[in-house]
Amino acid sequence: MSTSTPAVKITLLGSTGSIGVSTLDVVNQHPQQFEITALTANTNVKKLLIQCQQFNPRYAVMVDVDAAEQLKKQLHQTHPDIIVLGGAEALVQVASLPEIDVVMAAIVGGAGLLPTLAAAQHGKRVLLANKEALVMSGQLFMQAVTENQAELLPIDSEHNAIFQCMPSVYFDKTQAHTLQQVGVTHILLTASGGPFRTYNLEQLQRVTPEQACAHPNWQMGRKISVDSATMMNKGLEVIEACWLFATTPAKIEVVLHPQSVIHSMVAYTDGSVLAQLGNPDMRTPIAHALAYPQRMSSGVTPLDLVKIGRLDFEAVDLTKFPCLRLAYEAMQVGGTATVILNAANEIAVQAFLDKQLRFVEIAAVIEATLAAMTQHEFIDLNTILAEDALARQTARDIIATNYRG
Ligand code: NAD
Ligand code: MG
Repeated sequence: MSTSTPAVKITLLGSTGSIGVSTLDVVNQHPQQFEITALTANTNVKKLLIQCQQFNPRYAVMVDVDAAEQLKKQLHQTHPDIIVLGGAEALVQVASLPEIDVVMAAIVGGAGLLPTLAAAQHGKRVLLANKEALVMSGQLFMQAVTENQAELLPIDSEHNAIFQCMPSVYFDKTQAHTLQQVGVTHILLTASGGPFRTYNLEQLQRVTPEQACAHPNWQMGRKISVDSATMMNKGLEVIEACWLFATTPAKIEVVLHPQSVIHSMVAYTDGSVLAQLGNPDMRTPIAHALAYPQRMSSGVTPLDLVKIGRLDFEAVDLTKFPCLRLAYEAMQVGGTATVILNAANEIAVQAFLDKQLRFVEIAAVIEATLAAMTQHEFIDLNTILAEDALARQTARDIIATNYRG
């Protein structure tokens, strides 16, 4: 890219998180090409303040209004031009600004749905890390992308890998293709297996939040770390892949690959299997999506296959990891089942992190929530939000009645 090209303007939703920080690291390596227009965070004033001082955005949003007030005060002297906004509606506002080109959706959980959807509705290039948004609203979200000529690029390492291994004609919006027509038989979604891959059911009874958050290969936020340990993360990714690549759970095979070097694969009808490899560092998919269709440096250490020595593969044991089975089943049921799955999971994971629920009880709470609620086929945004709220309350009640104390 020549330096005379105007900088690409970015709204970074969830800038203080793991993906947010990695995104700023990549952007910082290409200051001529990218400009941060808006940064957002939930409550972390200290971290957002430092990021504002470094990147001097036009807008800074804190969902917590008291936190927004504090940030405003602290920026007042040195950065009076930064517009500080408070509240969840401000996330939607900065994701929809006419002047921005790219929205990095890196909020964790259902809280990311409305701003991520707004970015699609405003025809932005959406860099999707917030998989929960797609799990909740898949059909509606994909429709918003198509109708508003938005561009959706996956940041989740597996989906970014699949995107890179798919024939580009599959994403040509002027022609509709099926996977079969482009010669793809199935997708191989790799999973590290998380910190408890080798544990037996007995050992899983006693694991702590600290152990669950110590992922062997990736540094991530606490919620996704627990999801990786239960393998719900892989379940959410199966659902995410179904929407992103217009396919069904039957065409997605999860393969355990403990080294996290192959980020996923696409299998073709002639027997070819294409894979994308790299060190486990989210700056690779972030740089890929920011520069797409070009390539740019990310700061990631080059892959040294000789040093890695070997790549292993195993089948997944669904009795040890029932969350993955629940996700497959919810996607097969369709409608609001994945909304309920996601909401119950968020509540159960938080209860586990708060030491109110044992690790093995996470799946039980999700299954009980799905069983307690009626699933609806028809999905509009109001239905999604109402079912999400109801599922959260149902999961809380199940925990309070059956598990606490
Ligand atoms: P994180 O917990 O490190 O960061 C979350 C960010 O969201 C923070 O900036 C926080 O301020 C913001 N946030 C939290 N709750 C919020 C709320 N209620 N309203 C508005 N903002 C809120 O999480 P992370 O690991 O960066 O993950 C972010 C998303 O990316 C998740 O959906 C995760 O599944 C996905 N993802 C992460 C990784 C990774 O390596 N970390 C990899 C693939 C996908
Ligand atoms: Mg992933």
